[in-house]
Amino acid sequence: MKILVVGGAGYIGSHMVKQLSLAGNDVITLDNLSYGYRDAVKYGKFIEGDLGDNAVLDAIFKSADIDAVMHFAGFIQVGESVIKPSMYYHNNVVNTLTLLDAMLRHDIKNFIFSSTAAIFGEPDYTPIDEKHQKQPINPYGHSKLMIEQVLDDYDKAYGLRSTCLRYFNAAGADPDGELGERHIPETHLIPLILQAASGRRDDIKVFGDDYETDDGSCVRDYIHINDLCQAHSLALDSMIKNNKSARFNLGNGKGFSVKQVIDVVKDVSGKNFKVSIEPRRDGDPAVLVADATLAKKELNWQPEFAELKDIVKTAWDWEVNFLCQ
Ligand code: UDP
Repeated sequence: MKILVVGGAGYIGSHMVKQLSLAGNDVITLDNLSYGYRDAVKYGKFIEGDLGDNAVLDAIFKSADIDAVMHFAGFIQVGESVIKPSMYYHNNVVNTLTLLDAMLRHDIKNFIFSSTAAIFGEPDYTPIDEKHQKQPINPYGHSKLMIEQVLDDYDKAYGLRSTCLRYFNAAGADPDGELGERHIPETHLIPLILQAASGRRDDIKVFGDDYETDDGSCVRDYIHINDLCQAHSLALDSMIKNNKSARFNLGNGKGFSVKQVIDVVKDVSGKNFKVSIEPRRDGDPAVLVADATLAKKELNWQPEFAELKDIVKTAWDWEVNFLCQ
């Protein structure tokens, strides 16, 4: 297939481009490099440009016979979205609409969308399945849910098929060591703990130890990046075969507290480092764990990295062999 990966120079997008290319697909990456890295696009063709730019989109869709579009170019920081909602609604909603409308102009009807556990808000129950009510508690979650709604309506009206994949916590790195996570600023837990372990940061701060969890720190569901990408490939095949839109929650189904993740990093790296307890971070639910039964059943998806220590090991190798160099 010929696939356009929007945001293919970012963390998840770059792993996706590699996986799709190695599977024999013809891949084009479109990325404005605002957060991505040119050297993370190691496969296929690269075009520097913005997903909100109609001229760029028309040129790509005119010159290449694209079968499907995968969209990874959303802004992802919850805290920033609270302070700068305009930035989030413009990029995540307005620019995504521009992309979808360009697809329609060129009769491209297959779309894979990076959604998020943040669309569910404060959970009523865990693990969270697809039926759980959707009440985001921040602009980031709202922006993603808005596009899910748009996609429901575009399916009915225009026959644009979409699969929305709600990620819980993407983690780890390419086991070949070619790719990994590089956010500036880094706000995610595992890369920050790894920086503390490698000495690139003085300590790791635990945001709250008074939650109603076993050890008081927040519980999250960490899923390896390759498993996440595998779900995208399976979802695309299934959507095209069945000519049907779908929505799936993606996670390992197992929760780890912040303190447990710190212990796993200490174990994997063999390093000790300072841990400090800080106040809660705004907008953090106590527990977010996925019920991924539907994806497993319908897509025949089975995560290969079931153990957190194996996920962390791939990220630790990336920290030591790439980021520390
Ligand atoms: N967290 C933390 N210290 C940090 C960064 C994150 O304690 O320096 C916690 C955060 O409060 C949340 C969990 O780690 O409970 C995962 O946060 P992350 O930002 O990695 O992902 P999120 O769950 O927000 O998507």
